[in-house]
Amino acid sequence: MTQDAQQFASDNYAGICPEAWAAMGEANMGSARAYGDDVWTARAADAFRSLFASDCEVFFVFNGTAANSLSLAAICQSYHSVICSSAAHVETDECGAPEFFSNGLKLLAAQSADGKLTPEAIRALATARTDIHYPKPQAVTITQPTETGLVYTIDEIKAIAATCREFGLSLHMDGARFANACASLGCTPADITWKAGVDVLCFGGTKNGMAVGEAILFFNKALATDFDYRCKQAGQLASKMRFLAAPWVGVVESGAWLRNAAHGNACARRLAEGIAGLPGVEPIFPVEANALFLKAPEPVLDGLRAAGWRFYTFIGGGARFMFAWDTDLARVDQLIADIRAAAVA
Ligand SMILES: *Cc1c(COP(=O)(O)O)cnc(C)c1O
Repeated sequence: MTQDAQQFASDNYAGICPEAWAAMGEANMGSARAYGDDVWTARAADAFRSLFASDCEVFFVFNGTAANSLSLAAICQSYHSVICSSAAHVETDECGAPEFFSNGLKLLAAQSADGKLTPEAIRALATARTDIHYPKPQAVTITQPTETGLVYTIDEIKAIAATCREFGLSLHMDGARFANACASLGCTPADITWKAGVDVLCFGGTKNGMAVGEAILFFNKALATDFDYRCKQAGQLASKMRFLAAPWVGVVESGAWLRNAAHGNACARRLAEGIAGLPGVEPIFPVEANALFLKAPEPVLDGLRAAGWRFYTFIGGGARFMFAWDTDLARVDQLIADIRAAAVA
């Protein structure tokens, strides 16, 4: 079968990285116990505990929507609310799943120009209403890196966590691209999670080089009570769990999780450097992870479409390009050349 030329419309266009694939192959040799009672699942959970230097509770689900929704539902009662950015995936791209799985929580979205949530915005929403008629704020969720490709610094997360503590809110992190944030900051996973005050992390595997799967890490273990039942009820307990767990063993134990992310980030930077100084064309947001949102006149975008490039324009208001573990540098250079040609045409 012939392959289409590589596209950068999403980082989930990528295939499965060799480390995840090899672990899947190994897990496929013979039989194993079902529903997570197998050695691969135990080993993957231990790999996370050692990576995070934390005795956290670890669960594996199929995708990010389930990871976010179920973990927020674990934190909240149906009459609670969750403060998020207006750009948050939970708000814009999960079809109401957080509300559905919690039987009614309300997302309180803070308008954000760049996608980030700030202590000030959290404070404003947490104090706007304190009467019985309004859903009670119970949690804050931040996306690291943001949907706009920005990375919260350690200090920014600590400041958000301090505000959460002030108002008795749990701090949830959507880490669909968590590895890219670690690679960008050059910090340990612990530095931007439990050490900074994060209670629950959804660690994305799909965009990191796996076929499927996200891990949910509860640093605040009290929040994980009965979470296994919640996953099962939601259809997220894999009976052949070893195949959700094994790829994590492959990427975490080998360090591929970080190498994969660093490659995606480097490709975004390469694109940013390659288009620097072009007339009318620039990144909308600073390039801090594996995304570049291109601001360009419509004829330039049309030129790129005509050259065969696929990209989304519904997020962030420009043309989004996203890079993954498998990004071919020659294709990035081709994109740079095509943007240059379109910009000066
Ligand atoms: C991709 C993504 C998710 C997960 O989406 P699924 O399609 O449900 O796996 C969650 N949050 C963010 C910010 C994402 O980009």
